[in-house]
Amino acid sequence: MRHQARKRFGQNFLQDQQLISEIIACINPQNDDPLIEIGPGLGALTQPLLARVAKLTVIEIDRDLVARLQAKETPGLTIIEADALQINWEELAADRRLRLVGNLPYNIGTPLLLKLAQQANVLVDVHAMLQKEVVDRITAQTGTRSFGRLSVMIQACFEVRTLIEVPPEAFDPPPKVQSAVIRMVPHAEQPTTGELASLEAIARLAFANKRKTLRNNLKKHISDEQFVELGIDPGARAETLGLPQFFALAKLLYKGNTTPSQ
Ligand code: SAM
Repeated sequence: MRHQARKRFGQNFLQDQQLISEIIACINPQNDDPLIEIGPGLGALTQPLLARVAKLTVIEIDRDLVARLQAKETPGLTIIEADALQINWEELAADRRLRLVGNLPYNIGTPLLLKLAQQANVLVDVHAMLQKEVVDRITAQTGTRSFGRLSVMIQACFEVRTLIEVPPEAFDPPPKVQSAVIRMVPHAEQPTTGELASLEAIARLAFANKRKTLRNNLKKHISDEQFVELGIDPGARAETLGLPQFFALAKLLYKGNTTPSQ
């Protein structure tokens, strides 16, 4: 029976075989890779992945799709019926680091990646299809319009690269927006949980009003003298700062281990 795509689960199924082959080639799965697919859906990526690896674990929230996958009794396939946002990646990884792949439901893309940033030390890499606009924000460079909180948080933990741009026709049903496949590889040195929390708070404040200067967005927390000490112009806007400067501000703000209010 044909599966009726569910909007609430962000179901846009890949149907372009050439594109699927390109994505698999980018992932370059090896036989004993600890591979996890988020949102297998009707198996567009699952089947070609399984042709390349001995074992594959998939995480799917839609119980009808889980039942379909289970009915196939595919050797090597482990199916977890769960919300990917609730997964504890450290627990799932046990003693090995994971390779994550997924044509992600667009409604969970950003929160999922922010969660992965907190557990990047248990990952080898992530290959994800997302809205192109989100990929552009993740990969944005300092000084560009798309550079913001998401760029800071993800780039603090991962090396990021756009691999493929994907038009709506590649999916059934077609989404309203362009998509793109991104590769994210964790940095060898990861920020500590505390550093990441501080960075998140400072980025949230600094980008609270993108048209305002750093002085205005951070006036309750950082003085002009402190900006100058760090070599930062308080009259500049947040998008002009590089990652090291965000880390420096985060360190300064949280020296006393206090959590500022907005
Ligand atoms: N991988 C398939 C493909 O490329 O054709 C399906 C991709 S579709 C964009 C997203 C998939 O993620 C759907 O199967 C959907 O049911 C599943 N999904 C949605 N929200 C989820 C969540 N929170 N946790 C796990 N899977 C989810």
